[in-house]
Amino acid sequence: MLENLTTRLASVIKNIRGQARLTEDNIQDALREVRMALLEADVALPVVKDFINDVKQKALGVEVLQSLTPGQAFIGVVHNELTALMGTTHVGINLATTPPAIILMAGLQGSGKTTSSGKLAKLLTEQMKKKVLLVSCDVYRPAAIEQLKTLASQLGVDFFPSTGEQKPLDIALAAQDYAKKHYHDVLIVDTAGRLGIDEVMMNEISELHRSLNPVETLFVVDAMQGQDAINTARAFNDTLPLTGIILTKLDGDSRGGAALSVRHVTGKPIKFIGVGEKLTGLEAFHPERMASRVLG
Ligand code: GDP
Repeated sequence: MLENLTTRLASVIKNIRGQARLTEDNIQDALREVRMALLEADVALPVVKDFINDVKQKALGVEVLQSLTPGQAFIGVVHNELTALMGTTHVGINLATTPPAIILMAGLQGSGKTTSSGKLAKLLTEQMKKKVLLVSCDVYRPAAIEQLKTLASQLGVDFFPSTGEQKPLDIALAAQDYAKKHYHDVLIVDTAGRLGIDEVMMNEISELHRSLNPVETLFVVDAMQGQDAINTARAFNDTLPLTGIILTKLDGDSRGGAALSVRHVTGKPIKFIGVGEKLTGLEAFHPERMASRVLG
């Protein structure tokens, strides 16, 4: 198994401890280790290159304060750069529109869209006191519609029924109409995913987006997908004006590689992270905390 990023960076940092100051020579090994660690953590190559260049420039320019060892100074630079790459501050959900605020969920099958729709409904209902309506447009998998219905009933959140015989757009528009009439603040639209990028799926979600004009278009991506997460993110970002990302399954693997590259490729904020299968397993994404987690 690959060594995880945390362990690798810990050993890098150990290696340069006790050095008098940061120089081109003595950070060379450390930079190489960071580069390897990021690549092994499935961070995309262009992201890794940019990151290494930034860290190098900043590390060489930095004045090592007397209270710090050069090693600590290096850790600080790596940490700051990681934080900057991941977005610096937490960006919350945007509901600033005429109700119902529509949240369109996009992503591959199995990424965690339906689960995240339920988690988001819970958060909006309980923490933000919003009246939420859930709808599924996954007409290809009746089980997915049932799954969302079950989540809605567990949460006591309204659910707009749909069937496999309907068209996704008809379902969504009917749900929007229903939400308007019943004064829902938020309509969460779960959509069909595929196992890979597929033109029919992309056309379908583009059409949903054009007609619904959602205030949030959230790309749901599995953090365990590694390099594939980058390609998926690029494809969805090219097709849809994404407003944010939900990075799921961060409970399964502690490496934060996907967070770095998905953010870099899309330029969109990661708004939430999925940290478990339960409906309570959704947390706000904090770049600073993620950087610390990546560094260990
Ligand atoms: P969808 O096809 O995109 O709607 O994906 P689902 O919501 O059905 O999720 C696929 C699988 O991933 C299910 O077994 C979920 O329980 C699981 N899952 C979703 N989010 C998370 C998460 O944050 N952590 C873990 N461990 N599992 C998750």
